[in-house]
Amino acid sequence: MPFQQSEQLYQEAQEVILGGVNSPSRSYKAVGGGAPVFMKKAKGAYFWDVDGNQYIDYLAAYGPIITGHAHPHITKAIQAAAEDGVLYGTPTIHENTFAVMLREAIPSMERIRFVNSGTEAVMTTIRVARAYTGRNKIIKFAGCYHGHSDLVLVAAGSGPSTLGNPDSAGVPESIAKEVITVPFNDIDSFQQALEHWGHQVAGILVEPIVGNFGIVQPEPQFLEKVNELAHAAGALVIYDEVITAFRFMYGGAQNLLGVEPDLTALGKIIGGGLPIGAYGGKRQIMEQVAPLGPAYQAGTMAGNPASIRSGIACLEVLQEKGIYDRLDMLGAMLERGIMKAADEDNIPVVINRLKGALTVYFDVTEVKNYKDAESSNSEMFAYFFKAMLKQKINLAPSKYEALFLTIAHTEEDIRKTISAVEHAFSEWPFA
Ligand code: PMP
Repeated sequence: MPFQQSEQLYQEAQEVILGGVNSPSRSYKAVGGGAPVFMKKAKGAYFWDVDGNQYIDYLAAYGPIITGHAHPHITKAIQAAAEDGVLYGTPTIHENTFAVMLREAIPSMERIRFVNSGTEAVMTTIRVARAYTGRNKIIKFAGCYHGHSDLVLVAAGSGPSTLGNPDSAGVPESIAKEVITVPFNDIDSFQQALEHWGHQVAGILVEPIVGNFGIVQPEPQFLEKVNELAHAAGALVIYDEVITAFRFMYGGAQNLLGVEPDLTALGKIIGGGLPIGAYGGKRQIMEQVAPLGPAYQAGTMAGNPASIRSGIACLEVLQEKGIYDRLDMLGAMLERGIMKAADEDNIPVVINRLKGALTVYFDVTEVKNYKDAESSNSEMFAYFFKAMLKQKINLAPSKYEALFLTIAHTEEDIRKTISAVEHAFSEWPFA
């Protein structure tokens, strides 16, 4: 039995860890259930599980592992950090170095703070925007995930622009009512929302390239218009670049697209695999934050030397020439292979791809917003996920996630993956 140990460990886990997983996205609930594979070791583009199976990994830990697992340069930095003591509670030279590196890459982040997760980073940008504008409401785009703080666990109601409903038990209605949700790529709905609530809006929270209902790019001029309308209404624009920063180029999606927000939240890749988040923005806005200003944010672990040194090492690797072209080349190869296999077997596939990140949707004609992604076929995705897993290709267990390539993936890995896709499609069980 190829997954025996994983199944045993999952049984044991459920007796002590709530639901058997420490983050719900790790469960296989969205793909028909079953024991998630327990991984034991990761190196480069590969995983080994507790049963001894070897996989090609496209999860990349939900985005951070762009260099491949256990990259020697990052491992060395983490080892050095461990030897020098992992937590000081004082400033260190590494924080200065890293903040300068980030600002050079993303110049709109004139002043920066390090925190411990993407959730914290986004949560704090909202507080800063509220402090700066003296307003309470936030506009976000339907289907975009911004971490698990109360304010962003809010779903769209029906209609083009709506006050939110809590998307999670435990989020008070009073908080959800401060959030307005509009469809992504729909500038008319956005404009309507501002016409209605504009004078109360502190900030617009945007994934400039969506990563959380698959990879969805903004329509031409969408982000420019968002900026223009938001600023005319006196609201700030906040980019959640937790997934996008350093994913598509050395810098943020804001650099790639040429549109600047007032505040930016970072996470994932910038920790090289260790826990981290960062936020920053225009100096006079950031000066709202303590100790300079009245908005409070703090952290025992914030800027810890292990995460910071790991992050510096990761960015050093990403500065190497040709990295993003290579990710693009591998991504294009994978996209072509999957589309060719789909065409041959008449499987209804749409792929959204940017460089080394792509999403495979089934049974839709295009995906430009959350509604499109939602309407893609979940059963077909679940079959695809399981068929790939059986062939030792590890994808994220949700139709809303992306496949992430790393610089450790080889053309041979992509060829093997395409063969697995061909096999999965050749046994397609749907009419
Ligand atoms: N923002 C975005 C765009 C994300 O994708 C995520 C995590 N998937 C977060 C925020 C939250 O980050 P974290 O899980 O590090 O708290």
